[in-house]
Amino acid sequence: MQIEQNSVVTLHYTLKDNDGNIIDQSDDGSFLYLHGAMNIIPGLENALSGKSAGDEISVKVSPEEGYGEKDPQRIQEVPKEMFDSAADIQPGVQFHAQGPDGNAVVVTVVEVKDEAVVIDGNHALAGMDLNFEVKVVDVREASAEEVEHGHVHGPGGHQH
Ligand code: ZN
Repeated sequence: MQIEQNSVVTLHYTLKDNDGNIIDQSDDGSFLYLHGAMNIIPGLENALSGKSAGDEISVKVSPEEGYGEKDPQRIQEVPKEMFDSAADIQPGVQFHAQGPDGNAVVVTVVEVKDEAVVIDGNHALAGMDLNFEVKVVDVREASAEEVEHGHVHGPGGHQH
C-alpha cells in the first residue's frame, strides 16, 4: 500500500548535513511514525506521501520545512548563579529546561562569561538544511486507537 494519511510507516534513514557528515540515523532497529500526525518534520512527511515499501528516496529539507530558522530570541544570557555551582557548565553542554509553552526543551550552553552564561534554546537542527536518505521498509494501516492517540503503538512505538 501507499503512504497516506493514517499510515504507520517503518523507515530506515540517514540524515546528513551539507558537508556529508552523518548527524543522525535510524538505529539497528527501525524508525516508525504515524503519517499525517505531525510525528516528523513536514518536509520529510510530504516527500514520503504516496511512497510504498521498498522505495528509496533522497530529500533535502530546508529549515522552513524542517526545524525552523534559528530564533535569536531563544539565545539568552542568564545569571551564572542560576546554575548549580557543582554543575559542569561549559560550551556545548546540553540540559533540559522548561520552554515558554511548558514543553521540555533542550538548551545548549554557548558561552560562559564571568557573571553570566549564554544559552541557546533553539533546536539543535534549526537553521540547517537536512539531507535525508530514506528507505521505506513497511507500510500498514493504523489502528483506530493509534489514530486517536496520534502515535504508533507496539514494538518501535509507544508501549502503554
Ligand atoms: Zn497511545
